[in-house]
Amino acid sequence: MTELERKQDRAPIPAGWEYASAPESREIVRLEERYGLFIGGEFVEPSSGEFQPSINPASEEPLAEVAYAGAEDVDLAMRTARDAFENGWSDLPPSERAKYMFRIARILQERSREFAVLESLDGGKPIRESRDVDLPLSAAHFFYYAGWADKLEYAFPNRAPRPVGVAGQVIPWNFPLLMLAWKIAPALAAGNTVVLKPAETTPLTALLFCDVLRQAEVPPGVVNIVTGDGRAGAEIVRHPEVDKVAFTGSTEVGKEIQKAVAGTGKKLTLELGGKAANIIFDDAPLDQAIEGIVNGIYFNQGHVCCAGSRLLVQESIYEPVISKLKRRMGTLRVGDPLDKNTDVGAINSQQQLEKIKELVAAGEEEGAEIFQPACRLPERGWWFVPTVFTNVAQSYRIAQEEIFGPVLSVLTFRTPDEAVEKANNTPYGL
Ligand code: NDP
Repeated sequence: MTELERKQDRAPIPAGWEYASAPESREIVRLEERYGLFIGGEFVEPSSGEFQPSINPASEEPLAEVAYAGAEDVDLAMRTARDAFENGWSDLPPSERAKYMFRIARILQERSREFAVLESLDGGKPIRESRDVDLPLSAAHFFYYAGWADKLEYAFPNRAPRPVGVAGQVIPWNFPLLMLAWKIAPALAAGNTVVLKPAETTPLTALLFCDVLRQAEVPPGVVNIVTGDGRAGAEIVRHPEVDKVAFTGSTEVGKEIQKAVAGTGKKLTLELGGKAANIIFDDAPLDQAIEGIVNGIYFNQGHVCCAGSRLLVQESIYEPVISKLKRRMGTLRVGDPLDKNTDVGAINSQQQLEKIKELVAAGEEEGAEIFQPACRLPERGWWFVPTVFTNVAQSYRIAQEEIFGPVLSVLTFRTPDEAVEKANNTPYGL
């Protein structure tokens, strides 16, 4: 450590000053009281008649009632998608498909503020993240795949790429619109039609996206959005009309899906859990490394499948890294996701909060040392203070299991080989 770094390290955290709050207005978002299922270009009532509220995790306020799809509804959506596939979409010249996709991308850009505010309201992530990451990337995905639509035959010379058919897509709550873009854009570019189920706790931007589909005049039935819980996801996966299943979520559900499609001839992609490690060697620029760590695990509430939820530090720099990290954690601003100053937003659901608490309690019980900066949390809503564990053994649950919360486990290493071995010591593939 240089003399300057030593001094900075000892400097007290500035106390007694605060940023004024800078909330983004939610006026731009106009929500319906109730949303049906988007099938064949229209919102239809679910056959069960069941609706559940989607809750703002920062305030526990219900935002809108959302339909719960049952087997009959999924069947209707599938048949509609099949019809759209066979009667138009798959026969369109690729450059025509691309035109619809370019339109979607342009509309997402034009309406990006509205989408970003809704994403933060429904999911709890800071507006800075939804505004600067989720929305620009969602639009970029549609632009990018629109560009592929008429180039597939050049990408695979001497082969004739053709669409697979109906894609059944099931996505989680951590990147609701971006995950939708990741799934829908490539499927459409290749000439497939889609039935997509968003997560139960974050359906609203997918429902607003239906409005974009209409604005872009995408033919009815090409994209169908069915909301509901895991039962609707299971119906999609099992449905005989599905040619391709695409799933992102937990390893447990991924395994169930793999079993359900085994032997059916359906194509499958799974994106499951992770326990990613950041590795810091003793020649790293420490302040930049600390920003990387904070960005990877705290700025997104740890709600990212590739979040750096383990930190491997070379033993010789362990102490300065930990003291700089703790100091930086003390400056993180936890609170209103719509406030532009917020670093760490709300935890997406009560269920997820309970899961984080349970794993953190296990970490303490197993003998790890916990540090949480002083932090005043809002009274309502679901929150978790940014947390770091030191003295972590590789066998502890907090070093092995995906926490999906703002919780970092620190381990040390001496040689590069040991770092790689420890980083790979996880059952996850991501
Ligand atoms: P799930 O795997 O349960 O949910 C992901 C999606 O699958 C949701 O749309 C869910 O519906 C749906 N689903 C649930 N059960 C089934 C089923 N049997 N068949 C088909 N679809 C189903 O993840 P959770 O949201 O419960 O999160 C649990 C944990 O998973 C997290 O704590 C985290 O560790 C991990 N996770 C990993 C993600 C990643 O990106 N790799 C993303 C999210 C979670 P619904 O939500 O409506 O019940």
